[in-house]
Amino acid sequence: MGFGFNVDDISSSATRAQIALNALNRSELGGVDLKATTRTLEMATTGRIQLLDITRPVEQIVRDSGIKSGLCLVHAPHATVAIIANENEQGLVRDFVDKIEELYPPRGNYLHNRIDDNASSHLASGLIGSSRTFPVRDGRLVRGTWQNIFLVELDGPRTQRLVEVTVIGE
Ligand code: ZN
Repeated sequence: MGFGFNVDDISSSATRAQIALNALNRSELGGVDLKATTRTLEMATTGRIQLLDITRPVEQIVRDSGIKSGLCLVHAPHATVAIIANENEQGLVRDFVDKIEELYPPRGNYLHNRIDDNASSHLASGLIGSSRTFPVRDGRLVRGTWQNIFLVELDGPRTQRLVEVTVIGE
């Protein structure tokens, strides 16, 4: 009644997910060997708002991990950085910077600015998100042709920004 989907479909797909999970647990018990690798990328930023393309080093970490099938988590352990996936086209990169400036103007009636001067940077990081996860298939990170991976500096310039790349799978 107006949900646009059938509740039975959901419960049956939930059941299927549970069956798949049970099968996974059984195969783990049967000795499937999940591997995990974490590497840290380190970089400096030069702008207040800036996009840095980290696709190549992230893909290199996935290849070096030897993991053929699984997930790759790209996570920035910072409160004023975001991670996005999108096209590395010069104009669009500028559009992202301009849009972030517009959506999160540095000057505003922010409570956090009573103790710091970067509430807009925290808001952008929290709402855009500081991590992204990608599938790994056939030993490669799965992404669209126009999906490069970017660190988004939101409170630069900074001498050191970190990105933790974790690959987990088999
Ligand atoms: Zn702050």
